[in-house]
Amino acid sequence: MIEKIRIVLHFPRELVDKPIICKLVKDFSLTFNILKAEVNPKEEGVLVLELEGEEEEHRRGIEYLKKEGVVVQPLSQDISMDREKCVDCTVCIPLCPTNALIKDSRTYEVEFIKEKCIACGICLRACPYKAMKIFF
Ligand code: SF4
Ligand code: SF4
Repeated sequence: MIEKIRIVLHFPRELVDKPIICKLVKDFSLTFNILKAEVNPKEEGVLVLELEGEEEEHRRGIEYLKKEGVVVQPLSQDISMDREKCVDCTVCIPLCPTNALIKDSRTYEVEFIKEKCIACGICLRACPYKAMKIFF
C-alpha cells in the first residue's frame, strides 16, 4: 500500500555533502518532497522530508538511512517549553534551524513559537536546564 510519511533527518557534518537522499529514489522507489532543509551552526544538516512509497520500502529506506549514520525522527513528536525551568540563557536560539526560539525584545524572555518548530530535537540536547521537552 502506498503511503506518505513525514520525517526529520539529522545529518552529521561528514554526511552533509553525500548523495544519501538520492538513493531513496534509486534503490527504494521512494519519492520525496523536501519541506525544510537547514545546516545549523554546528554544521549538522537537518532535513524535513515527506516520503511517498510502499510501506515496506519506507521501512527499508529508513533502515538504510540509519545504517549510514543519519538520525531519523518522526515529525509527529511534540515539543514544548517548560517556562518554570527556562532561565532565558539564549543558548538554544542560534541552534534552532527554524527560528522557533526567539528573544522577546520587550520582556527579554526566550519565547517558543510552536508553529515554527519542526521537532528536530536540537534544543533538547542543548538546553542546560532541560527546559525543552518532547512528547511521543
Ligand atoms: S537553552 Fe534552555 S534555559 Fe536557555 S533559553 Fe533555551 S530553553 Fe531556556
Ligand atoms: S525542536 Fe527546538 S531546535 Fe528544533 S525546531 Fe523545535 S524549537 Fe527549534
